[in-house]
Amino acid sequence: MTHSLDRTDPLAPLRDRFALPDGVIYLDGNSLGPLPRATPAAVADAVERQWGERLIRGWNEGWIDAPVRLGGKLAPLLGAGAHEVIVGDSTSANLFKALVAALRVSPERRTIVSEAGNFPTDLHIAEGAVACVPGARLHVVPCDEVAAALGPDTAVLLLTHVHYKTARRWNMAALTAAAHEAGALMLWDLSHSVGAVPLDLDGAGVDLAVGCGYKYLNGGPGAPAFLYVAQRWQDRLASPLSGWMGHAEPFAFADAYHPAPGMKRWLAGTPPVLGMAALEVALDLWAQTDIAAAWVKAQALWTILADAGTAAGLECVTPADPAERGSHISFRHPQAHAIVQALIARGVIGDFRAPDIARFGLTPLYLSHAEVERAGAILHEVIATEAWRAPEYQNRQAVT
Ligand SMILES: *Cc1c(COP(=O)(O)O)cnc(C)c1O
Repeated sequence: MTHSLDRTDPLAPLRDRFALPDGVIYLDGNSLGPLPRATPAAVADAVERQWGERLIRGWNEGWIDAPVRLGGKLAPLLGAGAHEVIVGDSTSANLFKALVAALRVSPERRTIVSEAGNFPTDLHIAEGAVACVPGARLHVVPCDEVAAALGPDTAVLLLTHVHYKTARRWNMAALTAAAHEAGALMLWDLSHSVGAVPLDLDGAGVDLAVGCGYKYLNGGPGAPAFLYVAQRWQDRLASPLSGWMGHAEPFAFADAYHPAPGMKRWLAGTPPVLGMAALEVALDLWAQTDIAAAWVKAQALWTILADAGTAAGLECVTPADPAERGSHISFRHPQAHAIVQALIARGVIGDFRAPDIARFGLTPLYLSHAEVERAGAILHEVIATEAWRAPEYQNRQAVT
């Protein structure tokens, strides 16, 4: 196969900054990013020196500021101001805080609008949020009816920017404008966007956003997540999880709650220092990475795998237009589970999403064009020889 792809790779030096096992082509960095080489030493330092030797003094030597400091480091990847981002809690918890805050800021508007087929936690958390706010309700519609579903009762539109299954990407500026036209707030879930595609939250006029630390950001399993609140909302929105770490003066130990100014009010409890240490290494790596260059390379990687899968006869469910997708690719096949198992046995790690999706992350920091080409050849071979029919790949209980 001949490609007119641009294979210059300014990101190639980054490959050595990751510790990937030999013989593995890792196409699942969109689900759990791999280990940066600098992470074990940083986590060991946090445990042995900071915790072991500094003990309680650690809180005054960087721990207490970690949520704000890491938020500032993440902000450039979001197209946000450093003062608009905080790191902490999980994406699910941050979604809950943002949704309830959005419902409470405009009591005359009672509806959360979201898309059917959204990532499960988004809809589950929205269900939980409306149950906590009197009169609130959740309106879930197919994605082509989202704009028409907005109206005078809409408090907030909740969308996942890049869809976890199909990689379909919403037009952020257009949907944000549609939400605003209806008088609603716009809340984006960026779990499959951050570290994958360039983002401009401030430029698009976004109100609220959340996302993951452990996918494209490479912050480690269960890494702290993030929350973005546009500057103009910061004094008006408040967290329903009014914990002491979000208090204006946590160490005054007052009975009554007074939210801190700025992003600190979104903190609830004590930050997870060890998880923060791992995520900070990853964010420092990102600080040396040009996301625009990463996205250019990701598009070339995507085309290589798209061509291989399509040539093998697979149905690609991800939009071909780079403006309409993120950085992973999904193929639909009734035997997608067995196909993914067969690929894993051959060193190509992707994942399966029920009922019939084989999904592959094209992550340009540590994948080369040659590796993705090799993965494509293996995919082609597994399909052409029907290697996936082997009995060992038929067990649906197998964990991927
Ligand atoms: C991965 C992902 C999450 C994860 O939420 P957690 O609270 O970290 O489990 C949430 N939303 C979307 C869209 C995701 O892709």
